[in-house]
Amino acid sequence: MEFRDLKKQYQVLKKDIDEAMTGVAASTAFISGPAVAKLEQELSEYVGAKHCISCANGTDALSLAMMAWGYGKNDAVFVPDFTFFSSGEIVSHCGATPVFVDVLEDSFNMNPQSLIEAIEAVKAEGKLTPRCVIAVDLFGQSVDYDAIRPIANRYGLTLLEDAAQGFGGSIRGKMNCSFGDISTTSFFPAKPLGCYGDGGAVFTDDDDLAALLRSLRIHGKGADKYDNIRIGLNSRLDTMQAAILSVKLRAFADYELRDVNTAAQKYNEQFEDKLRGLLGSKIKLPQVKEGYVSSWAQYTIILEDKSTRDGLQAYLKDRGIPAMIYYIKPMHAQGAFDGVKTVYTSLETTDYLCDRVLSLPIHPYMTDEQSEVVDCIRDYFNAR
Ligand SMILES: *Cc1c(COP(=O)(O)O)cnc(C)c1O
Repeated sequence: MEFRDLKKQYQVLKKDIDEAMTGVAASTAFISGPAVAKLEQELSEYVGAKHCISCANGTDALSLAMMAWGYGKNDAVFVPDFTFFSSGEIVSHCGATPVFVDVLEDSFNMNPQSLIEAIEAVKAEGKLTPRCVIAVDLFGQSVDYDAIRPIANRYGLTLLEDAAQGFGGSIRGKMNCSFGDISTTSFFPAKPLGCYGDGGAVFTDDDDLAALLRSLRIHGKGADKYDNIRIGLNSRLDTMQAAILSVKLRAFADYELRDVNTAAQKYNEQFEDKLRGLLGSKIKLPQVKEGYVSSWAQYTIILEDKSTRDGLQAYLKDRGIPAMIYYIKPMHAQGAFDGVKTVYTSLETTDYLCDRVLSLPIHPYMTDEQSEVVDCIRDYFNAR
């Protein structure tokens, strides 16, 4: 069984993808070809943001945002403790300090109360200036922006939405990648919308920021690329990736987002049918808030303790079912931040989750694998 079946997806889209790839090869416009501008237009329309600036990967997309705002020494940027390393790495990379914030058990996303506590603690200490909050739409579900946006506004912080896993998710019809002052995504192959290599994008409604981001991604260019007016990056999206993404975006919007939601629903039904007695106590299923749509980058369950979780992962693996632990280590425990004060508040829910989460295979091209996975989980609990 595949964790995310990209081979099946290619078989379905093969004709269009092959055509897109050979079209770029024949044109030899490998960098900044017309497919890039076309994709940026399609992406900004899809998410409902005025500007889309494509770039080399999701990490660069976040870095470009930090550079556009000019954050650096003595600036505090608030980051969830439960996320992929990039979300914190890019803060240190620009010379600012990541301050880790706890998450909520039911959504895996930033806890608004913990954010307030962390901001207040940083202010009380008086060494760093609170500048920005990075809200990560983890596993495909939007952060609770109704709660987080007013906090950012109240403390005068910019809001950066890291939607690397959240592309396609929404709240009451408003799409992820449209909630931040700047929002970013990743097209790493296993993300909800993935390409055939690395890729990323930045979104904003702000004309000035958009112009700055376009300059920063090509060596801080001014009038042209041999006129350099600021220090930037070399962070373009390949034309080949853009052409592939246009095909895949169409499939994503037409049926993949719908089908991955059906796949998640099927898991829920299988668990209800076969393991009802364990739900809530021994196994917690992922919750999607009312009015929210997830793009199901992951379908993540919570087990009662670490040994049960680790045992289940090994049991599934022996039976050919890949299950992954996202994330096994809280950000604040990563060695890269040793010697930096990144903790200003309790991070107990992240610690709790890192010991108990398990992500099961999910993708839009599943047929009946959910039944096999849940049968296997039932066997594991019966054998104990
Ligand atoms: C994948 C990911 C990134 C980084 O994206 P890349 O394209 O791999 O650089 C950033 N943030 C989160 C939350 C991610 O999951």
